[in-house]
Amino acid sequence: MAEERLRIAIQKSGRLSDGSFELLKSCGLKVSRGRDKLYGRVQEMPIDVLLLRDDDIPAFVADNACDIGIVGQNVFEEELLSETHEAPAEEVMQLGFARCRLLLAAPKEWNFDGANDLASKRIATSYPALTKAWLEREGVEAKVVMMKGSVEVAPRLKIADAVCDIVSTGATLDANGLKPVATVFDSEAILIRNAEKFSAEKQAIFDALIKRINGVLRSKDAKYIMMNAPRSAVEAITEFLPGADAPTVLELAGNPDKVAIHAVCRESVFWDTLEELKKLGASAILVLPIEKMMP
Ligand code: ATP
Ligand code: ZN
Repeated sequence: MAEERLRIAIQKSGRLSDGSFELLKSCGLKVSRGRDKLYGRVQEMPIDVLLLRDDDIPAFVADNACDIGIVGQNVFEEELLSETHEAPAEEVMQLGFARCRLLLAAPKEWNFDGANDLASKRIATSYPALTKAWLEREGVEAKVVMMKGSVEVAPRLKIADAVCDIVSTGATLDANGLKPVATVFDSEAILIRNAEKFSAEKQAIFDALIKRINGVLRSKDAKYIMMNAPRSAVEAITEFLPGADAPTVLELAGNPDKVAIHAVCRESVFWDTLEELKKLGASAILVLPIEKMMP
């Protein structure tokens, strides 16, 4: 019998693809991908990669053409809200990249004073379901105009009064004379899976992959931090270290009052952090990157 392989769908090219390839690479999986190819194969684990347009990923996973996929939460939620599949795909976890927002934006000269101002107005968007759900939550009745792209030009063309669009920096809005007035949805890349039970063999591959992804996400902001400090400062320093478990405390040769403290910090270590540590009595502070971590 042929070996079972887990099929993962990722975006072929676009704002999700670098992050997706990067994540697989950090998991130790090299995808051999030919140009314009639909398939990529992984050597290190029994995994096949399908390269698709992001909008097709939720349906491919729901319909069992793929087992799992990486897609923007915005696209996935939009699909769920306007669902046509009997058993939609399920969200497994957030992946921490491709962060963006679905924002409601209005022309700068509009003296916008809250959601009620949108009553009877026209809103252009590529995300009609998410936009309508938000309007409903706000208790406002407005007309939602579906546009596939270039949503931000709609007000200038008088197609709509406002827009609801994906934004990461806001530069595009600004260039089109628009200003954000409300956040409709916060998004990042997520892992989704088919809702049916996997075979035991597939489940084992899935579990191994999830374990690796968790290891990668955990080590992302994590740093290994080392310093010397007076023994009397150990407690205060331990308490202060961002997201650290119990640190290792080592005696310094020939100096019974001083110790070396080593710890894994799971949250970002900033210059402020180091200055604070110095104030608490630490010296010779070293911060090192962590490449991989497995509990
Ligand atoms: P495709 O050709 O695969 O259909 P696309 O043009 O629809 O691609 P992209 O612009 O590549 O899609 O965006 C894919 C996803 O990346 C978005 O759905 C969103 O989740 C995320 N994203 C992150 N930042 C941004 C941004 N600044 N603008 C748009 N999408 C962003
Ligand atoms: Zn798309």
